[in-house]
Amino acid sequence: MSDLVIAPPPVVTLPVLGGGRFPVRRIFCVGRNYAAHAREMGHDPDREAPFYFLKPAYAVVADGADTPYPPATKDLHHEMELVVAIGRGGKDIPESEALSHVWGYCAGLDLTRRDLQNEAKKMGRPWDMGKGFDHSAPMGALRPAAGVNPAKGRIELKVNGEVRQSSDLAMLIWSVPEVIANLSRLVTLAPGDLIMTGTPEGVAAVKPGDVLEGMVEGVGTVRTRIV
Ligand code: MN
Repeated sequence: MSDLVIAPPPVVTLPVLGGGRFPVRRIFCVGRNYAAHAREMGHDPDREAPFYFLKPAYAVVADGADTPYPPATKDLHHEMELVVAIGRGGKDIPESEALSHVWGYCAGLDLTRRDLQNEAKKMGRPWDMGKGFDHSAPMGALRPAAGVNPAKGRIELKVNGEVRQSSDLAMLIWSVPEVIANLSRLVTLAPGDLIMTGTPEGVAAVKPGDVLEGMVEGVGTVRTRIV
């Protein structure tokens, strides 16, 4: 008999293309990893060291499911991103070995309460309530890493059929191997960890009723409707 005093929380999983489910441990997110997005947010993308924030695993919204418009915001933004799923953990991972730690990739959305994030920036406070709220991470199905080249490929988001964000993975300031190497010097990465690699330019507000359809070429799609 278990001595847990309440029922354990369910394991959050992502579906895998071709079958199976990937259990999610943590969700790391890279800030300002495309120069044009850094500029639109008022920063100079001078290759400052990458920085990170987290979302809880419970923020995942299953692909195709509705996303409830969150409380306490009037400015919910979409950020379309390539997501890396770690299959083998490690610390101080050399850049040259980083991709061997990747289990797969998917397309994901880093939904952001921009008004709360901007207020936190101004006050020098944490971003958690702007970034890590409930239902803030719609995720597509995972594609196993074999055959995926995360160094290039179109990344695009349509809202109600109109293109809002369009770029290429080649525009990442910090590449996937560089991010894994850098992050693994700050924390010990573990199987199940996801890394959202940052968004290109074109972020903007969404409202209830909007349908978001994202795509990363060679990886997959993500879809949700804000309700
Ligand atoms: Mn982001």
